[in-house]
Amino acid sequence: MKKASWFIATVLILVLALAACVPRGGSETVPETGKADAVDPGRTYSYDQMIEDAHELARLYPGLIDVSSVGRSVEGRDLTLLRLGKGPGKVLLLGAHHAREYISSAFLMETADEYAAACVSGAKLYGYDIRRLLDDVTVYIVPMVNPDGVNLVQYGPDAAKDPAKVRSMRMLQQGFEAWKANINGVDLNRQYPCHWAEKQSATGVPSSEMYKGNAPATEPEVKAVIALCEAQRFTLAASFHTKGEVIYWADSGTNNAIPAGSGIAQALSEATGYRLMPVSEDPAVYGAGFENWFRQEFTQPAFCIELTPAGNGAKPHDDADFARLVWDKAGALLAALLHQADTAGHVA
Ligand SMILES: [Zn+2]
Repeated sequence: MKKASWFIATVLILVLALAACVPRGGSETVPETGKADAVDPGRTYSYDQMIEDAHELARLYPGLIDVSSVGRSVEGRDLTLLRLGKGPGKVLLLGAHHAREYISSAFLMETADEYAAACVSGAKLYGYDIRRLLDDVTVYIVPMVNPDGVNLVQYGPDAAKDPAKVRSMRMLQQGFEAWKANINGVDLNRQYPCHWAEKQSATGVPSSEMYKGNAPATEPEVKAVIALCEAQRFTLAASFHTKGEVIYWADSGTNNAIPAGSGIAQALSEATGYRLMPVSEDPAVYGAGFENWFRQEFTQPAFCIELTPAGNGAKPHDDADFARLVWDKAGALLAALLHQADTAGHVA
């Protein structure tokens, strides 16, 4: 009897000791620091969760992360901005232009969490000294450019301010969980003032996707991103989408003017295993996208990065599978990007 209690006590102690080593949120991949636990990306990542996590990160990392807003969506949600780092260089990361691609918001929030933890602890991430990189560069992150659309995808049309208006729009895919546009039925990545007139249009009315609007930059979300870029003059930008694990890195309109783009794209591809796409040749195809506008406007590199493997049709992936779908490959992305920005002389 005494022997049995001793055995039980030993097992209990072992279990408790093990539990203490496992980061909160279990499914998170935190191999190198083990400290980042403010964000749990393995869930259906909502606007409210993003806001809560953003403020938690600012509280955990004072002087390293701050939170503000660059504007408001059609329905009045904040277009939240996190700034990570202390450096004079400025890099911009954008998530969820497209509603159903909200896993890109979870990715950017997890990135802020992991990289801030590495910066504070002094640990290297993927072989890079994150503290040194974030002393050189400040990362501006707008994790959810289209919060109303994300809200529609996750909670359905009755969660919109005007459900009847949303239901009256043209559906190019089945079901609201496949919605890409903003709540006005305008596709925000077909809205930027760059070859907008030439941009092909599969639909001429407000729709679940593909509608470019009746003029460029009519939507408040796009206006806010443009204003942020004009105010901050970023030296590099990346916009995150799904699916395909590929990187769009150049278009024929600006490729020759931005010679640094190909080397940075190559480094991002090596860090992630994502495939580089050919230079986009036709403005009717590439026009009006954020990255295309950014290159044209500032003559600086900008990337459209498609996270996650292809599959699951037009529906979002299984959020619980975040580590395999996103982080295992894209976790290294910001380290590679900061290193490039730093060493390629892209830091002002
Ligand atoms: Zn997209």
